[in-house]
Amino acid sequence: MDYRECCRMGQEMLEGAGIREGALEARLLLEHVCGTDHNTLLAHGDRPVSPREEKLYLQALEKRRERRPLQHITGRQEFMGLSFEVGEDVLIPRQDTEILVEEVLRQLQDGMRVLDLCTGSGCILISLLHYNNWCEGVGTDLSQRALEVAERNAGRLLEPDKKWSFLQGDLFAPVEGKFDFIVANPPYIKTRELEELMPEVRDYEPRLALDGGEDGLDFYRRIIGESGEYLMSGGRLYFEVGWDQGDAVRTLMEKAGYQEVEVVRDYAGLDRVVCGICLPGRKGVFENV
Ligand code: GLN
Repeated sequence: MDYRECCRMGQEMLEGAGIREGALEARLLLEHVCGTDHNTLLAHGDRPVSPREEKLYLQALEKRRERRPLQHITGRQEFMGLSFEVGEDVLIPRQDTEILVEEVLRQLQDGMRVLDLCTGSGCILISLLHYNNWCEGVGTDLSQRALEVAERNAGRLLEPDKKWSFLQGDLFAPVEGKFDFIVANPPYIKTRELEELMPEVRDYEPRLALDGGEDGLDFYRRIIGESGEYLMSGGRLYFEVGWDQGDAVRTLMEKAGYQEVEVVRDYAGLDRVVCGICLPGRKGVFENV
């Protein structure tokens, strides 16, 4: 079979399994196996595919037909223009999360210290450090295996003079000192909704990275409640939130004493980021979450 025929066959196999973007995904899997890029289909569709490549391609298609995420097969996901290693131990970085990174980048200045809770693949922290000259970054996660992925991503994507560390533990537990910014894309799916997720997410992505408790807000409550101790005066807290959680998280932050709390929408017009400024020292601040 030549390259173009392989693409067409893959598309049919994937569409037959109910995968909507079969043409795109078949092409990406073929490129992964052959080490090629989009140009090959456009300009060299008659390139022969070797029996070994064809075998690997069929194996990849078979995995995808079982609804394993494409990114678990290729081992990669682009985020903020950087190529992150991903796998079953981390949440696959989502394009929506770029909104959070862009909001933080608007305010981030050289010399600042940033904490990324539930860091997973490290995509948020690493992007922030990559697009700044000199900031110090700390990422924490409960999962040691996730942190191993984050470490490899940072080692590959960050210049050696950048200052970063990844620490294992529950939210703030392994952290010392205060930060200018705290950012988090915590698990925020309601427990009872986990079973309704698409199979790629439900069956293959880590539950630890998804389950936000009964109302999906468990981590926001905990992080907001503890954040006052770890933010410098005038420091900022940034969250990614689910499309229906903007008001709830805004209220939690305001009740805790955060100032200038803002809900930022994504390109689809849905609530995506909530952020606010911590000005401790005012009466009642951080006492009644
Ligand atoms: N911080 C990582 C991301 O945004 C992981 C988030 C998580 O595991 N909930 O992709």
